[in-house]
Amino acid sequence: MAEVLVLVDHVDGEVKKVTYELLTAARTLGEPSAVVVGAPGTAGKVKESLASYGAAKVYVAESDDAAGYLVTPKVDALSTVAEQASPAAVLVAATSEGKEIAGRLAVRLGSGLLVDAVGVNGDGSVDQSIFGGAFSVKSKAAKGIPVISVRPGGVEAEAADGAAEEVSVSLPAVDPAKSARITGVEPVVGGDRPELTEATIVVSGGRGVGSAEKFEVVEKLADALGAAVGASRAAVDSGYYPAQFQVGQTGKTVSPQLYVALGISGAIQHRAGMQTSKTIVAVNKDAEAPIFEIADFGVVGDLFNVAPQLTEEVAKRKG
Ligand SMILES: Cc1cc2nc3c(=O)[nH]c(=O)nc-3n(C[C@H](O)[C@H](O)[C@H](O)COP(=O)(O)OP(=O)(O)OC[C@H]3O[C@@H](n4cnc5c(N)ncnc54)[C@H](O)[C@@H]3O)c2cc1C
Repeated sequence: MAEVLVLVDHVDGEVKKVTYELLTAARTLGEPSAVVVGAPGTAGKVKESLASYGAAKVYVAESDDAAGYLVTPKVDALSTVAEQASPAAVLVAATSEGKEIAGRLAVRLGSGLLVDAVGVNGDGSVDQSIFGGAFSVKSKAAKGIPVISVRPGGVEAEAADGAAEEVSVSLPAVDPAKSARITGVEPVVGGDRPELTEATIVVSGGRGVGSAEKFEVVEKLADALGAAVGASRAAVDSGYYPAQFQVGQTGKTVSPQLYVALGISGAIQHRAGMQTSKTIVAVNKDAEAPIFEIADFGVVGDLFNVAPQLTEEVAKRKG
């Protein structure tokens, strides 16, 4: 069976959920091989969890440089392994870093690039949700080893047994003149909430929330559900919530199991970032709001009346 390379997305050896989704997607095309790039000792920390999502091999590219530079070592590792293993495809998370890696890798390999896939099919085609989610299309790379970036949350992770046989990869020396070196790292100050693009549930607030103080109503529901908090651009532009939480065309793309939109009208640019969520719940006092066109469940009502009741009910059921 053909190998399918998966770049492991991790922070200091802590594997991100999207990696398991990529390993699951890879199984539709062949046998998944995980590629770990990081500081010495990283593979030891992640090997077991990669095996539990079906990684047959784990390519290990470890060095101080691998952890000390931005995308270059990852592109180097993937292109080195791809040239040796001739895989059926290379899968990378469609995060901002992942998209850059995928683009550079496709150029190096002379391959077709498939971006932001929400599904990977056995015939090598991918599903994409385009033009703000208005169209669903299938695409196939016309040449080379397809390089595919897969949207976090696009594919549901399923556990499977893999041998996780270790193969070491030696990386070429990084040319500092051509690469961006990491000079410092600061943890995101985000409290205990899950990261927006990784979260299983996202609760977002829009201009309808009315002020930064009142965003508490969104946060309380999010915390009851163990969810991440998101915001529309209008809410961000009005200063209600920080820009890093913006969902949409010019913000983050999310694809959680459940997306709750509070006081969001559902403009096409907002929908572009959340339309592929599995279940969408909207609360809006305007029955004509376009968000109801894509909502699975809608409540026409005042969010300040509905959200606290929902929060209370969720808390009761957990307790
Ligand atoms: C190039 C470009 C890029 C953009 N990128 C993005 C993007 O990334 N993300 C994004 O979100 N937008 C983006 N936008 C902006 C987008 O077009 C909309 O303006 C924005 O999404 C509107 O945000 P909103 O729904 O919060 O506000 P509004 O459209 O003002 O809607 C507020 C909603 O709240 C409802 N409401 C008010 N009070 C209550 C209440 N008490 N209870 C219940 N409901 C209530 C109203 O009925 C209304 O439907 C972009 C626009 C452009 C031109």
